[in-house]
Amino acid sequence: MSTLQLYNTYTRHTEAFVPLHNNRVGLYVCGPTVYGPPHMGHVRGPVVFDVLRRYLEFLGYKVRHVRNITDVGHLVGDGDEGEDKLGKQARLEQVEPMEVAQTYTVAYNEMCRMMNVLAPGIEPRASGHIIEQIEMIEAIISAGLAYVVNGSVYFDVLAYAKTNEYGKLSGRILEDLVAGAGNEARELEGQDEKRNPNDFALWKKASPDHIMQWNSPWGKGYPGWHIECSAMSRKYLGDVFDIHGGGMDLLFPHHESEIAQSTACTGHSPARFWVHHNMITINGQKMAKSLNNGIMADELFSGNHPLLAKAYSPMTIRFFILQAHYRGTLDFSNEALQAAEKGLQRLMNASAQVPKLPISDSTEYNVSDIQAACERSMNDDLNTPQVIAQLFEAARVCNSAADGKLKLDRSAVEALNNLFQTWLHGILGIQTEEKGNDDALNGVMQMLLTMRADAKASKNYTLSDEIRNKLTELGFSIKDGKDGSSWSL
Ligand SMILES: [Zn+2]
Repeated sequence: MSTLQLYNTYTRHTEAFVPLHNNRVGLYVCGPTVYGPPHMGHVRGPVVFDVLRRYLEFLGYKVRHVRNITDVGHLVGDGDEGEDKLGKQARLEQVEPMEVAQTYTVAYNEMCRMMNVLAPGIEPRASGHIIEQIEMIEAIISAGLAYVVNGSVYFDVLAYAKTNEYGKLSGRILEDLVAGAGNEARELEGQDEKRNPNDFALWKKASPDHIMQWNSPWGKGYPGWHIECSAMSRKYLGDVFDIHGGGMDLLFPHHESEIAQSTACTGHSPARFWVHHNMITINGQKMAKSLNNGIMADELFSGNHPLLAKAYSPMTIRFFILQAHYRGTLDFSNEALQAAEKGLQRLMNASAQVPKLPISDSTEYNVSDIQAACERSMNDDLNTPQVIAQLFEAARVCNSAADGKLKLDRSAVEALNNLFQTWLHGILGIQTEEKGNDDALNGVMQMLLTMRADAKASKNYTLSDEIRNKLTELGFSIKDGKDGSSWSL
């Protein structure tokens, strides 16, 4: 079997993946800034890295998956200016910042659960690792790569760039950065404290009215956005680990700054592989508040948005995401989502049908060819669209066998069953929808209650009582009201 090849953004090459510590893999993924409900921009990352994790586990690795929660330090402008995103939301909602963090952490994790994303092994919060961040900032100052101004600490990009490559990950050249930073940036709050406009905050002095602030060697303040990931990945995965993941929008400044901070402390980049998924567009356009195309995850699942023709189930969304390669853009449209829904249904029907297939004495199809093609596709930089194409081939084989046009023996049927279990349900993580079960149960219960009402109306009390008693026995409670009967379990 070939080995897993992953595209490494850091080297811009597809490289064979071999973990640092024989069968163990350290995987760090940048998680959400929890200041609002999860939206469409949040659905892709968790699914992409969930499939990477599931595949690594399939290959026999023990994965330590760390996904952080940003609950402090991420400012409204994504740079070093403006209000803290959580602090602002707390002010608007008139609650504590930690209530904002808790509410939206729960909402994010619920969205992930609905899409069958396995929970990370460790989910560290930035606000819970202030000491580790301060220690790291002190180390960067000791290395001569950060300076203190007025209670704030800034990373000295020019000093760092004398002996290190700054901009390698994102492909930005420092001269361009300096020229592009322009004078208007300097006029913004705090910019005049910086020696160079490209320097970024490691620690910011807090004004007395700033809600979240901690004591530090430099006075009361709060950490910059980037230092949390350097400090937390190092704490849980060590000075160097296998894979660092995130969205392409995090390449600069977030991941570039992470590399600089970690290199300042340890002498090298924290991760060997940097894996980035591409962004989502809606009807060919970027998501933006001004375009009014920002769709929340729960609106996607309920269909309650003007741009949506109907509700799309979490499994449809998961399948839709995996039908595209993670490094390509993914365009949401009603047509594409409905096509994904149909395709998924075809695979689910085939998967359910396999155990009922007729068994022949001989076989006319070699299922292991499909299995081998699935592995080749995943090893080719997680080519999930190709895996799905193989599963459609398996569905075709299944349908032909069901129609008696193709003979499969017992071991071929078992291999086909194994293929759907391993690849569709296991590695791609597609499950039977819970909601589908709810709908079916609802339908059956309505049917029984209608039958009971009809029995009563025709004075067949023996039947109506029997239905009621049997349902009660099964744990249902039936309430008769003016508008008919209702049930609960
Ligand atoms: Zn991060």
